[in-house]
Amino acid sequence: MSTSWHDLKRKEEIGDSFTLLIIIEVFVNRSLTLENIKCYGFDMDYTLAVYKSPEYESLGFELLRDRLVSIGYPHELLGYTYDPTFPTRGLVYDTTYGNLLKIDSNGNILVCTHGFEYLRGGQVDEYYPNKFIQRDDTDRFYVLNTLFNLSETYLYVCLVDFFTKNTRYKNCQKGFKHGDLLMSHRSMFQDVRDAMDHLHDTGTLKERTLKNLDKYVIKDPRLPVLLIRIKEVAKMFLATNSDFNYTEVRRAYSDSEMTRVPMFFAGGTVLRQVDTDTGKLRIGTYTGELQHGTVYSGGSSDIVCDLLDVRGKDILYVGDHIFGDILKSKKRQGWKTFLVVPELVKELHVWADKASMFEELKHLDIFLAELYQHLDIGSQECPDISAIQNRIKMVTYGMDLCYGKMGSLLRCGSTKTLFASQLLRYADIYSTSCLNLLNYPFSYLFRAPLVLVSLSWLTRLEYNCFVLIINMNI
Ligand SMILES: [Mg+2]
Repeated sequence: MSTSWHDLKRKEEIGDSFTLLIIIEVFVNRSLTLENIKCYGFDMDYTLAVYKSPEYESLGFELLRDRLVSIGYPHELLGYTYDPTFPTRGLVYDTTYGNLLKIDSNGNILVCTHGFEYLRGGQVDEYYPNKFIQRDDTDRFYVLNTLFNLSETYLYVCLVDFFTKNTRYKNCQKGFKHGDLLMSHRSMFQDVRDAMDHLHDTGTLKERTLKNLDKYVIKDPRLPVLLIRIKEVAKMFLATNSDFNYTEVRRAYSDSEMTRVPMFFAGGTVLRQVDTDTGKLRIGTYTGELQHGTVYSGGSSDIVCDLLDVRGKDILYVGDHIFGDILKSKKRQGWKTFLVVPELVKELHVWADKASMFEELKHLDIFLAELYQHLDIGSQECPDISAIQNRIKMVTYGMDLCYGKMGSLLRCGSTKTLFASQLLRYADIYSTSCLNLLNYPFSYLFRAPLVLVSLSWLTRLEYNCFVLIINMNI
C-alpha cells in the first residue's frame, strides 16, 4: 500500500488536540470485538458517500420548493432559501397542527415551533395540554430522522411561515383558508412527501448531484484505504437503495479500488442479479450461491446472511439512518451496528467550547441536591428552588442556541432527545464517520464504559461524589 492511514492523518489540518481526539474517536454503547466480525456491511448515502453540508441540503430544499411551485403552490415561496442553522435531525412534524416538535424518548415536548415562532408554555398547552405526544401515532406524527429529511424539515417551517403571514389566507387550527379552499397542514405535508418521492423516483436529485459531484460530494482518499484493509480480513457488502449506475459513478468518484461490491435493498423483495454491463435486472429470482463480485438487487437482510454464510452477530453494519439501517438490522438479525453521526462534530465542538455552561448545569444540580440534603419524608420544610429552576432554564436555552435554532441533536439541557435515546439503544458503537475505523486494529475490543442505569437515584450526599461525566457522556 503506497499511502498509509497514518501518513494521511499527519497531512490533515485539524484544530486543537482535544477536538481531534474526540472527532476521530469511536464511542461505545455495548462492547464489541472487531476480531469476531466476519463481515462488514455499509450503507451508501451519508455513510460511504458523504455529501457536503449545507450545499447538498440546499439543493434538496430548492428542488422540493420548486416542485411545490410547479404543482400550484404560490410562487412567493421561491423567496425562501435554506437556512442550515435551523433544522436538526430527529425532529417530529405534527401533520395536524403544522408544528415542529423536539421530544424526548417518551414523547414529552422539549421545544415546539409553529413556522419560525417558538411557542411558550401556555401556547404549547393549547395544542398539547399535557406537553406530550403519543409518538406511536405515526400517521399523525412524522419523525424526520434522516439527513435527507433536513431540507424537508425546513420546508415545512417555511410553508407554515408563509401561509401564516400572508393576508390572503385566514389562519385556522388545522391549516389556512382562502375562500372555499382549505390548505390543511395534512395536505401540505402530503404534498411535500410526494415532492420528495418525485425527486427520488424521477432521479432529479441524483441527476443534479452527478452533474456537479465536486460541489456536493466529499472526495476522501482515506475511503479506499479503509475498504481495502477490510477486504483483506473480512467479507463486505454495500446495501443501498440507489440504482446500479448511480452507485457505480459515485464509487468511481471515491477512488475505491474495491471491485464490484454486491448491493441489496433491505426491504425483503425478490433477489435478482444485476447485469453490470447494462445496469438492468435479470429476470427471475436468484437462488444460487454467492458469486464473487456479483451485484444483486432486492433481497433482504435475511438473504444476505444466507448468501454470505454468516450469522447476524458476525456482521457489523455501518449506516447513518437510525430507524432504517440500524434499528432494522439490529432488531431483525441481531447485527452489530455502527451509527454514523456526522453532527457529532458540531456537538463535540460545542461541548469543548462551551464547557463552562455544562459545568454550570452540573453545579446547579449539585445546589439542588444540597437543598434537600438533610430532608426526608417527615420534613415540613419546603426549600425555595425557583431561582435554581430559572437558572437551569436559562442555561439550557443558552446551550441550545450554541447548536442551532432547534438546539442539539442529542439533548435539551440535561434531557436526552428521542434521537439520543435511539442511538443509545440501537447503535453498538457510533462515530462522526466510518473512516474512524482506521484508527483501530482489527483485533480491537471496544469496551462499553461502566455506566449506572440512571443517576436519578443518586441524590443528595452520594450525588456530590458521583457528579462525573456520566450524564455528559454523549
Ligand atoms: Mg444513508
